Amino acid sequence: MKLEKYSFGLGDRFLHQGRAQLEAIIHAKNAGVDITPVWNKSNREHLIVGTQPATLREEADNAVTALGWQGSYRVDADHINLATVDRFVDCSDFFTLDVGDAIGERASDSDIEAFIERHSKYIGTLEIPNAGTFEVSREMIEAVAATFLKAVQTAGTIYRHIVKHKGGNFIPEVSMDETENPQTPLEMFFILAAIADEGIPAQTVAPKFTGRFNKGVDYVGDVEQFEKEFNDDLAAIAFAISEFNLPDNLKLSIHSGSDKFSIYRPIRNALRRTGAGIHVKTAGTTWLEELIGLAEAGGEGLAIAKEVYISSLKHMDELCEPYATVIDIDASRLPGADEVNGWSGEQYAAALRHDRDNPAYNLHLRQLLHVGYKMAAKMGDRYYGALVRFEPDVSRNVTGNIWERHIKPLFIG
Ligand SMILES: [Zn+2]
Repeated sequence: MKLEKYSFGLGDRFLHQGRAQLEAIIHAKNAGVDITPVWNKSNREHLIVGTQPATLREEADNAVTALGWQGSYRVDADHINLATVDRFVDCSDFFTLDVGDAIGERASDSDIEAFIERHSKYIGTLEIPNAGTFEVSREMIEAVAATFLKAVQTAGTIYRHIVKHKGGNFIPEVSMDETENPQTPLEMFFILAAIADEGIPAQTVAPKFTGRFNKGVDYVGDVEQFEKEFNDDLAAIAFAISEFNLPDNLKLSIHSGSDKFSIYRPIRNALRRTGAGIHVKTAGTTWLEELIGLAEAGGEGLAIAKEVYISSLKHMDELCEPYATVIDIDASRLPGADEVNGWSGEQYAAALRHDRDNPAYNLHLRQLLHVGYKMAAKMGDRYYGALVRFEPDVSRNVTGNIWERHIKPLFIG
C-alpha cells in the first residue's frame, strides 16, 4: 500500500464532517490537484470524545460513498504506541507511530556502538545534494544515536506488532513532533538511517520543525529559518532514500499543520521546485468551523457556541493540560463570560475565525476553544443534534476553511 504524493490529514472530532471535508478535496481535484484524504484521529481525541476507532472508518467510508469519491483514501491511527494500538489495528491502514516519549532514552551501549560502526563512512565532510556540506564527527553520530536510537527501536517494536496482527499492507509514519527540541536536517538523515536499520518501511516522517506549531493558529517563529530547514529536510530525505534504500515515496508529514498560513508559501515553493510530496495533518481546525457555523446559524446554534466557550473558560486548566506544549494562551486576553453572552453570531464568528486581517480575531479565544471540544462532547446529543440541524451553516464553513485557507495556498497559490 503506497501513499500518493500529496495527502491531507482530516481530523473530525465528532464524526459529522467527513463529507464537507471531502468536498474540499474534490474542489482540489477539479482544480487539477490530486490529494489523498486521510482521516486521522488520535487515541487522545477518542478518549476525550468517548468514541471508538472503528467509528472513524465508518465516517470515512460513508463520506466516500455519499460523494462517489473514486480516488484512494486512508484512515490514520494517529499518535499510537504499543499500549494504545490494538483497537486501531483492524480499522486503520495508516499508522502514526509516536515515539516522542522515548526520545532521549538511551539505547544499549552495544547498539549505539553498532550504529556508529554501520554509518562511520559518513564521518568527515558529508555532502547532501541540494543542502550543502556538513561536518560529521563520530561524536555527532553518537549524540544522534544516544538521543534517537531507542525511539526508533520503539517504533520498530510497534511496527512489528502491527505486522504480526495485520500483515504488512499499511502505511507507517514515524512521528517525533511532540517533543522538546526540533531536529536538524542532519539529525533527520541519521534518524532515517536508524529507521532503515530497524526495517521500518516508513512512507512519512513527522519531525519537530523549528518554531512553534501551536494548535489552530499561525506559525510563530522565524519564517526564513523555517524555509531553509524545510528545504534541507527535503534534501536530507531524498538523499536518505537513495543511501538507505527507504521507500521512494517517503515524504515529510507536517503535524499541527492547519492554520500555519505564514509558512504555506515557502512550503508550496519548495514542493514546486523539488517535486517532493507532502502530508499535511490537520484536526481541530474543523471542529472550530463547527462552532463558527453554529454561531452563524443563530438561535440554539449560537447558544451552544457560547456555552462551549463559557464552560471552556471555567475548565481552562484541565482542558489545556494535555496540550501544554502546543498552545500559548494569554488568559488576560480572553473575553469574559458576560461579554461573550452579549455577542451576536457575527461577533462570535469574527472572534473565532482565523482571519488575520480582521481586528476582531482573537487567537487566545481560538486556542482555548481548540482544546475545548471536551465541553461539546459533554453536551452529548444536544451538540450532535445541532450539527445535524444546522448542517448547511457548518459544512459551508468546514469546506471553505480547508479549501480556501489551506489547500489553495499550499498547493495552488
Ligand atoms: Zn503530531
